[in-house]
Amino acid sequence: MKLPSFDYACPATIAEAVALLAAHGGEAKPIAGGQSLVPMLAFRLAAPTLLVDLRKLSELRQITITDAGITLGAMVRWRDILQDPRLGQAHSLLVAAVEHIAHYQIRNRGTVGGSLAHADPAAELPGIAVTCEADIVALGREGPRVIAAGDFFRGTLITALRPEEIITEIRFPAWPRQRRFGFREFARRRGDFAVAAAAVMFEPVAQKFQNVRIGAIGVSDAPMRIVAAERALEGRDMTAAAIAGCAAAASAAVAPADDIHASGAYRKTLIGVMVERALRDAMNRTIV
Ligand SMILES: Cc1cc2nc3c(=O)[nH]c(=O)nc-3n(C[C@H](O)[C@H](O)[C@H](O)COP(=O)(O)OP(=O)(O)OC[C@H]3O[C@@H](n4cnc5c(N)ncnc54)[C@H](O)[C@@H]3O)c2cc1C
Repeated sequence: MKLPSFDYACPATIAEAVALLAAHGGEAKPIAGGQSLVPMLAFRLAAPTLLVDLRKLSELRQITITDAGITLGAMVRWRDILQDPRLGQAHSLLVAAVEHIAHYQIRNRGTVGGSLAHADPAAELPGIAVTCEADIVALGREGPRVIAAGDFFRGTLITALRPEEIITEIRFPAWPRQRRFGFREFARRRGDFAVAAAAVMFEPVAQKFQNVRIGAIGVSDAPMRIVAAERALEGRDMTAAAIAGCAAAASAAVAPADDIHASGAYRKTLIGVMVERALRDAMNRTIV
């Protein structure tokens, strides 16, 4: 279907982009890679009067790694993450999740900021952001605002972002060297959105699970941490029985809805399987 008509601007500075969005009072939208927005326009699910193209904002393309953590600019693409040799060490879970995103062409254009703002509950990055307690930085007329990922995603395609704000970056806390992780996703075909996926991490301390985080994608209208499953594992001996208990707790804690891709009951079982497999992967992974 042809796109509806709209005006187009391609500002050279972030300040100009924010001013354009503010001047159009919610009728304007940023465009980054266009991989979600263009289909939304074609299906008339979005009808902005102005598209504000962020492609010239090179300061949003930085990947910064320091002792404090990792910062990804909003215009960093999936391909940039996969091609950065530092990130495999600095945030292995992020890289493992991004490897599941879509296909080559989409990874070549899709961006961090676009994925966060679009807020698909089956998308990988929002799930990793919530699991890792990342912060999302939004910039509007009143200046920057830091929003915890856990507060950012409000529902399917709904976020805490205000219409005149753009996401400038996402900040992940530093990755402790001793941390172990697993990421398991089930999709109907390689590159499809997840039917369900689990991101897990913990630190082994004296053969016990410590600082456990269990994140789930695709089982709710927003990415979530499954706190009941985290509690089921925290402080327990590192045994197969503890993992099985955590997986059962994960399954019991979610209530996914039926949709065209899978029934809620199927997803409920699936998330337990994904959590169990991700935890086993984490146990088997050697830290280099
Ligand atoms: C066939 C197909 C398969 C896909 N499979 C997956 C998958 O498996 N997993 C996955 O996670 N994703 C998947 N995607 C989505 C893709 O990876 C992109 O992440 C997604 O399209 C959003 O990024 P974008 O840069 O293209 O954003 P755009 O499409 O340009 O924008 C999306 C939304 O974000 C807003 N926006 C963009 N940038 C900003 C910003 N900096 N600040 C504020 N708002 C902003 C736009 O206004 C729009 O509302 C798939 C897409 C397609 C077409």
